[in-house]
Amino acid sequence: MLSEPLVRRDVGRVPIIVGGGVAGLMTALRLAPMPVMVLTKAPLQSEASSVWAQGGIAAAVGPDDNPALHLADTLAAGAGLCDVDVARRITMAGPAAIEALLGYGVRFDRGAGGSLQLGMEAAHSRRRIVHATGDGTGKEIMRALAKAVRATPSITVLEGFEARRLLTADSAIIGVLMASHSGTVLVPTSRVVLATGGVGGLFQHTTNPRGSVGQGLALAARAGAALVDMEFVQFHPTALSTRGHPLTLVTEAVRGEGAALIDETGARFMDDIPGKELAPRDVVARAVWRRLSEGHRVYLDARAAIGGEFSRHFPVVAAACAAAGIDPVTQPIPVTPAAHYHMGGIAVDSRGRTAISGLWACGEVAGTGLHGANRLASNSLLEAVVSAGWVADDLAGTSGGRNRPVAATGDSTVADPELVRPILSRAAGVLREHDDLAAAVTTLLPLVLSAGSATADPALVGLCIVVAALLRQESRGGHYRTDFPQSVEAHCNRRIMTLDSVLYAADAIRAGSHHHAASEAKQKHVARREQDWRG
Ligand SMILES: Cc1cc2nc3c(=O)[nH]c(=O)nc-3n(C[C@H](O)[C@H](O)[C@H](O)COP(=O)(O)OP(=O)(O)OC[C@H]3O[C@@H](n4cnc5c(N)ncnc54)[C@H](O)[C@@H]3O)c2cc1C
Repeated sequence: MLSEPLVRRDVGRVPIIVGGGVAGLMTALRLAPMPVMVLTKAPLQSEASSVWAQGGIAAAVGPDDNPALHLADTLAAGAGLCDVDVARRITMAGPAAIEALLGYGVRFDRGAGGSLQLGMEAAHSRRRIVHATGDGTGKEIMRALAKAVRATPSITVLEGFEARRLLTADSAIIGVLMASHSGTVLVPTSRVVLATGGVGGLFQHTTNPRGSVGQGLALAARAGAALVDMEFVQFHPTALSTRGHPLTLVTEAVRGEGAALIDETGARFMDDIPGKELAPRDVVARAVWRRLSEGHRVYLDARAAIGGEFSRHFPVVAAACAAAGIDPVTQPIPVTPAAHYHMGGIAVDSRGRTAISGLWACGEVAGTGLHGANRLASNSLLEAVVSAGWVADDLAGTSGGRNRPVAATGDSTVADPELVRPILSRAAGVLREHDDLAAAVTTLLPLVLSAGSATADPALVGLCIVVAALLRQESRGGHYRTDFPQSVEAHCNRRIMTLDSVLYAADAIRAGSHHHAASEAKQKHVARREQDWRG
């Protein structure tokens, strides 16, 4: 713990990058030779979604492909909510992103002639998924990036260090409160990049690492930054159905190679749905969820389509199946939907800047607008690489800032999502409806306001998700309301929220009102409570 209530030091000139996944490491590498510090709560190459990425990275590099086609597929998946300019910039940057990764030594799979092998995934109109060691793309990318980072003297990696609070003054970053096994330390800095990944660990069924509990979102929101698209969580339709937490993903590429979804009777249930097994993820996830809700079991059957080639194409999935006693060559694989990707995030502009001066965000924690209401498969690694470049370019043009005193808040509890998981999973899962969401708001709000508790940060992120889901009275992309099953053109806009607006909306919802015209007394009340809770 901090020994002094007030720590006065010069603001450091070294930018701090929080997160050691693809987004964080690419930011650090792009900034070299500028000295930077990378914080990662888990050792590099572990406990990051980046390491677990299986299918690959989408880029229009095939002879029959071009960025305009990639853009069209991205916009179609995004169901009207993509930022078209951002999506255009990112899809156009795809081929250069692959080149950059090759430059860092990533060994992508190649065909007999030496050209990159390209996989197919749902809702892509072309084969454009660049992959490595079959389904080990993330592991290979992270191997190469971690090696490059360790060989770059300007990058200091602090493994086992967790950012617990961002300190601000006059809406500008002045420091980071970080914790490690040896205690808490406050490091002055005027520049922070959040690259902390997703929120899957807030749900009972997830494919994400346990540590993906949206800490970056809580850090940003408490510092005063805005969040966007928070209701949009992508549920992967095919996680290996075991009792574990998290669940192993059975990559979409398995369906891309022709595997079929069946129930315990052997019946295919996707036949009448356009796109069948390769329909957009939300469509497939809902079909699987409904089948399960009807009391069936659901399997992915790769026996005929892939058969004896399974372990060669999908060694990671094959190993997980073997550990669960399943042989995909002779047996169908039991699957269930699981929280997989968060389209929402910290609201950023085209340079990755947040509303707080000196605070940038990239990768999954950032709401760039690329994904809209639904992520096109394998677009997230691409976004992590490209958005890291934007952030690095912008940050490189800033100076270290002036010296400021840094006051410690003392609040440094480790986040514990245990209480939040059942609440969020019930209310904000594959299918959502008013009463469950309103009940979740009522349960989560007091948890958010319990200052200093281990549940407060996970509850805050969960509250943002359920409030946004409650306010969106339509279904779109990854957000499906059984009480509002249609998309409504008038609701086709992105929802930006701040901590204050979420607390106010939650209070109103808890009071049984959906009327958001603020009464002055109520606003003061919320502000006062927030003040108490911020300490
Ligand atoms: C099983 C699985 C398969 C996937 N397959 C694909 C795929 O094939 N293609 C694709 O494009 N996408 C895929 N995705 C999504 C993709 O992997 C992620 O969106 C992407 O890797 C996110 O990268 P990131 O750097 O933003 O976050 P991450 O890789 O999750 O890294 C986050 C980092 O932040 C650190 N961290 C978090 N909070 C703190 C804190 N408070 N202090 C310090 N450090 C912190 C973590 O330890 C970690 O190092 C997959 C995801 C999963 C889970």
